[in-house]
Amino acid sequence: MSPAPVLIVGAGPSGLNLALALTRRKVQCRLISEAEGPGEESRAMVVQARTLEFYGQYGFAREVVEQGVVSETAHVREGGSSGSREVLSISFKEMGAGLSPYPFALAYPQDDHERFLIKKLRDEGCEVNWGAKLTAFAEDETSVRATIEHNTGQIEQVESAYICGCDGARSCVRESLHLGFPGGTYEQLFYVADVKIARGFSRDLYINLGKRILTLMFPVRSSGMQRLIGLVPSELSHRDKLGFEDIRAQVEPLLDIKVTEVNWFATYRVHHRVADKFRVGRAFLVGDAGHIHSPAGGQGMNTGIGDAVNLGWKMAHVLQNRADTSLLDTYEPERIGFARSLVATTDRAFTGLVGEGVAGEFTRKIVAPLLFSVVTRFSLGRHAIFRTISQMRIHYPDSPLSQGVAGEVHGGDRLPWAGVDAKDNFEPLRSLDWQAHVYGEVDKDLEVACGELHLPLHTFPFTDSTKEAGLKRGALYLVRPDGYIALASFERSTNKLRTFAEQFHLRFQVSSISA
Ligand SMILES: Cc1cc2nc3c(=O)[nH]c(=O)nc-3n(C[C@H](O)[C@H](O)[C@H](O)COP(=O)(O)OP(=O)(O)OC[C@H]3O[C@@H](n4cnc5c(N)ncnc54)[C@H](O)[C@@H]3O)c2cc1C
Repeated sequence: MSPAPVLIVGAGPSGLNLALALTRRKVQCRLISEAEGPGEESRAMVVQARTLEFYGQYGFAREVVEQGVVSETAHVREGGSSGSREVLSISFKEMGAGLSPYPFALAYPQDDHERFLIKKLRDEGCEVNWGAKLTAFAEDETSVRATIEHNTGQIEQVESAYICGCDGARSCVRESLHLGFPGGTYEQLFYVADVKIARGFSRDLYINLGKRILTLMFPVRSSGMQRLIGLVPSELSHRDKLGFEDIRAQVEPLLDIKVTEVNWFATYRVHHRVADKFRVGRAFLVGDAGHIHSPAGGQGMNTGIGDAVNLGWKMAHVLQNRADTSLLDTYEPERIGFARSLVATTDRAFTGLVGEGVAGEFTRKIVAPLLFSVVTRFSLGRHAIFRTISQMRIHYPDSPLSQGVAGEVHGGDRLPWAGVDAKDNFEPLRSLDWQAHVYGEVDKDLEVACGELHLPLHTFPFTDSTKEAGLKRGALYLVRPDGYIALASFERSTNKLRTFAEQFHLRFQVSSISA
């Protein structure tokens, strides 16, 4: 194996995405995994719209969508083992309409997803080095030296500029850095099962908030099965060996299903933790290595992918001398805040939903269905829920990279999608590079400045959907390679653009780099 400037430890969704973000920008990396091959557990089931938007930048979002199952409706049921009823059905399509090119929840099992990414990486000439375990590393001012133990018994020393711990919840990178991983473990035991049901394959999502039993059902296209995730009844949770037959009588009435075949059954405990830091010197934590959450909100894997996208372009810029190394300082503050807020929101809501006693029951039976039915009655409420669940709401208002405001769009916001009635403003994001957007008429000086700075300028007609998206006519939006707004400006835009570029020693395009 040839040395590479970045050593990525772990080939789960985070490591694979980081490798993709680097190789697509022509930065070499070495990707190792202690596993013997791709993961075979279909843990994360939901790929959120924001993740699909990132995949849209790579040009393969539609391919992913075709391989998964588009779930347009979620059915919320209430009741216990003696019977249940549907209390609410939620249309994702209505909730996300006009907000994203992907207004739905995509059910796509993690193992299929990982194999897909491995193939995409292979297309870029990057292979995962399986059976290679990081055992230790040390760094000095200029490099990192890592010790890798191969499954053949060979011990290898590797030197790189950076090491990225994408090595999951028990991260060796995090432990080697002696970072704390504060948080807790839910006392409830979870089960996961892949089953066939008598009424045939269902594309929708089902959620039951029954008494002390939270149960979810997703479609799995590749196996034609349904995935069940839920809480093991507390009276059974201390049994040594538990199988689906032990819980069949409780589960079937909750979702009004008859299970005809069980392909896989496992139990697991759920944690919520965030590492003290996401970066120490030349070492970075990405994904579950830095934060773990309850699986109920479908956020964990998607957050790790967001980390990888964020770090990927910054690391590529620094290694290609396109920006000051201080650009890497923005990774931790941009990403750790969201990981912490997830613990305080999704995980707290999850605690309420799975909680025992009167309070838990009240949350499941009264608060949650009522809240959903009231909020989803109004389009603002529906949009707010979709933005939150889909991770479109993630933004970086306090980052030094986020500056200005124009219309309702602030520096640090995700570029709003405005492709409903005009030219798709996400299309240029496929360059994976910096760009300026103007909606409406362009100022001549700005055109000149963009040319001098080698910054591609994209203009769009100012339409109802651009207005609806909060974009201001004629304003400058400087868009980062990951689709977030760096600078939003309506006045003196040319000066602000030049100052921004100077502040981070940015070169906006690879072609602008002098040899
Ligand atoms: C049942 C269940 C359901 C879930 N559902 C969802 C969901 O619907 N949506 C969602 O977003 N998230 C969900 N999650 C969470 C999701 O599975 C994780 O967030 C995701 O796997 C994290 O990806 P990762 O790449 O950061 O880490 P991992 O997937 O854990 O990958 C870590 C990698 O590091 C490798 N590794 C570890 N140590 C070393 C070492 N020392 N040297 C070399 N390699 C090493 C491992 O072999 C592996 O390749 C769920 C989790 C569970 C358990």
